[in-house]
Amino acid sequence: MSVRRTTAAALLAVLAFLPAVPARAATPEVPDQIVAAWSKDRVYVDERLRPAMPEVELTRIRAAAKAADFPVYIALVPETPYLRETLYDMPTLLQARTGQPGLYIVEVVSSYWRGVEELYRPGGLRGRTLTSVRGDDKQRFDLDTDRPAPDVIRTIQQAQTAYDGRPLPPVAAEDLEPARPGHGKSATLEEDRVTFVGLGTGGLLGFLLTLLLALHRKRLRRPLATQAAGQRPNVYTTEIRRQADSMIKRASQAVKRIESKPQPTLEQLDRRDDANRRLAAARKLRAGDPDDLLAVAGALVLARQAERGATGAPVQPPCFFNPIHKSGTQQVDWDGVEVPACRLCEARIAKDETPRGLFVKSVPYWTLDPEKSPLVATGFGALSDDLPERIIARAEDRR
Ligand SMILES: [Zn+2]
Repeated sequence: MSVRRTTAAALLAVLAFLPAVPARAATPEVPDQIVAAWSKDRVYVDERLRPAMPEVELTRIRAAAKAADFPVYIALVPETPYLRETLYDMPTLLQARTGQPGLYIVEVVSSYWRGVEELYRPGGLRGRTLTSVRGDDKQRFDLDTDRPAPDVIRTIQQAQTAYDGRPLPPVAAEDLEPARPGHGKSATLEEDRVTFVGLGTGGLLGFLLTLLLALHRKRLRRPLATQAAGQRPNVYTTEIRRQADSMIKRASQAVKRIESKPQPTLEQLDRRDDANRRLAAARKLRAGDPDDLLAVAGALVLARQAERGATGAPVQPPCFFNPIHKSGTQQVDWDGVEVPACRLCEARIAKDETPRGLFVKSVPYWTLDPEKSPLVATGFGALSDDLPERIIARAEDRR
């Protein structure tokens, strides 16, 4: 009980702190921060949660992660406005940065703990999807959500079942939600409030926190569909736009390095010209509507190719299904057409699954009208390599 009380009190303290965090400050850095910390420790704990996180919780999480047959990446974070919007994209954003297969779990705390997760398998491995294993696991509704370990450990067990088909073990008794006297959850909340007020913060603050908790819970109950339709693409677009701009900068620097060589070889000059061709198109795309997901994704693809070319690496087509993925190094059959795909998408096709495509206004981009966009027509350059010329020509037509 003492552990639970400490966690709950700390949780209230976190909630009290959150409104003071500016909504936009430091937001794009959240995934970067997590990935940087993972190079030392694959269990990331946000510093605001650290003082109150019981060591026993972390020890159990670490042990479960270590026992898995695949790498497990975990982030324990408070629910900030940024995370409220990006939560469902977080595993993808994080995996795109590490480039490593494995299980990615982002566990957030607001008035209780909940998680999002994604299992990225090494190419070619078969098995069930994590989503279907989770769907069949009725015990997940009985987990104790006052602490992070129960959901994290259960998710690792579910992923292991998805990975190699072993039967799902029963949930450990200590991870089940304890039976509560009286009105269940609300009684516990009242108890927590009293605990926190008892810490010497005064009655008014206690009242404000209760109010805040109530508001938080109300917000959580809002239908997810609205969020999916309204907010997620904007945040996603912002993130891709940031990556595109940073890649354009890196590619320009690589071009400058070739130009500053006293005697560049013919091959280097060819690479410079090709990089400049792609960079010009990337900049054209970025000069248009900054909230157009197709345009910013196209700019990222072209800048990435320019950067590779200018640094002497082979220039590869993007993954046809989602140009944000790693390069399309594999050829796969898609409805009778050979298209380049990343290793993850290749693995999905091998299992007769539809790869996770780039969605624009809730449809896969390849279902949009190709006449209206050279990005759609060429699969972001996956189907033909004349994308830069098409973009420049189109921009000139419009003048
Ligand atoms: Zn892909």
